Amino acid sequence: MASSTSKIVQESLEALLDDKSFLPELTGKTREKAFTSLVSILSTPNHVNKSFLRIALENGKVTRVPSFRVQHNNILGPYKGGIRFHESVNEDEVANLASLMTLKNALHEVPFGGGKGGVVINPRDYSDKELYMICKKYVQYFSEILGPDKDIPAPDVGTGDREMDWMMGEYKSIRPGSSYRGSFTGKSVINGGSLGRREATGKGVYFTFRYMLHNFVKDQKKWLSERKNIFAGTALDHMDKTLSLAFQGFGNVGSVAALEAFQCNHLNNKIVAVSDRNVTLYNSDGLDIPGLVKFTSSSGGDLPVDEEQLKEAEVKATIKDRDDVLSLNVDVLFLVALENQVYQENMKQVKANIIVEGANAPVTSGADKYLSEKGVIIVPDILANAGGVIVSYFEWLQGRETQFFTEEEVFKRLFDKMKETFDTIFPQFFGDPFPLRQNCYIHAVMKISTILYKQGKLY
Ligand code: GLU
Repeated sequence: MASSTSKIVQESLEALLDDKSFLPELTGKTREKAFTSLVSILSTPNHVNKSFLRIALENGKVTRVPSFRVQHNNILGPYKGGIRFHESVNEDEVANLASLMTLKNALHEVPFGGGKGGVVINPRDYSDKELYMICKKYVQYFSEILGPDKDIPAPDVGTGDREMDWMMGEYKSIRPGSSYRGSFTGKSVINGGSLGRREATGKGVYFTFRYMLHNFVKDQKKWLSERKNIFAGTALDHMDKTLSLAFQGFGNVGSVAALEAFQCNHLNNKIVAVSDRNVTLYNSDGLDIPGLVKFTSSSGGDLPVDEEQLKEAEVKATIKDRDDVLSLNVDVLFLVALENQVYQENMKQVKANIIVEGANAPVTSGADKYLSEKGVIIVPDILANAGGVIVSYFEWLQGRETQFFTEEEVFKRLFDKMKETFDTIFPQFFGDPFPLRQNCYIHAVMKISTILYKQGKLY
């Protein structure tokens, strides 16, 4: 496990070791030994699988593409987590992301373990036919370790329902006669996917923020007054004031979260900035998010990059550099792009009082420490972006029963499930000194540790 996650897991276990009400059956030397086991189990993946997929390119050449499937832990159920197609994919990153899946599923009581896959390519450099071959080969190379009760991949950065459909198709061909619907989630609806899966992560990200502010922060008079120096004069201190929001990332997750924020009538939101791999768009009076969503649906996903395209989109905005989104004077910054976006060199420029992690691990551990100590509330990835895997779980269930929920039912179940987590985590957070991330980790680690103990795995 890369250092950031394992460090917080370790700190969480240290706090739990001292908390004698947690696993009170374990005392003295036995307790110490069990906790040493826990550190080693949680900071190491069970399996790291690596293959070089051999792909025949359309130009006649043959290439080898490095690819991974890391299976971190399956004490709570089959391994579960996305497969990303990105040129920066590497073993440590996939292992770290797999461990985050273990914690995410434990935190939200999803009966899955944690896994993650990756293929080291920039999908934009490959034709559809080549991408299809990559998907097929991925399943062929890893078919022994995948399956509805073993390890269930889903989309992640650079993949979507098209790739999951191809992969499930290949899985079915390799294992005729065996159950296949639950082998991949995030499939297209016609191919056994769940309604609402595409929007689930983005909707969940915004819902986490909305629920925290609307149902908790506004009632925390004492908590807010202790933080007067940070929040005084801001919209967090006066909820009737307008909240200014910026979104880094306008892909499948960011655009849905921004649209939710735009349409929300529980809070006074104004989305002043959105960004993608090319630009930041800024408008202090608020951006026309539906207009931008419409534009990106016909531009291959990219935001307008010049005046001409802004005119075409009928959107008023100033075009800024891509990374400017991070340092704007806003109340809330949603990080919905990639990992390691806020780090040592740029953390001091962040002015937002709340950061919501829609992406996995977008804030490095050093930046996390610095910002948390400054009083910034960081709503962590495993809390905020679980909507995708929660609806993946519904998809897996629906595939078993071949009974499908309506979209309304899916979102109701999603929000109910997330609320259950929030109603445990937020009161805890406002009552004790740990940052929100650590609260979430402690909660997840408690669940995993208890099950490991009950199954006799702590020796
Ligand atoms: N890739 C998503 C995540 O990081 C979804 C995983 C899933 O649905 O299994 O949570």
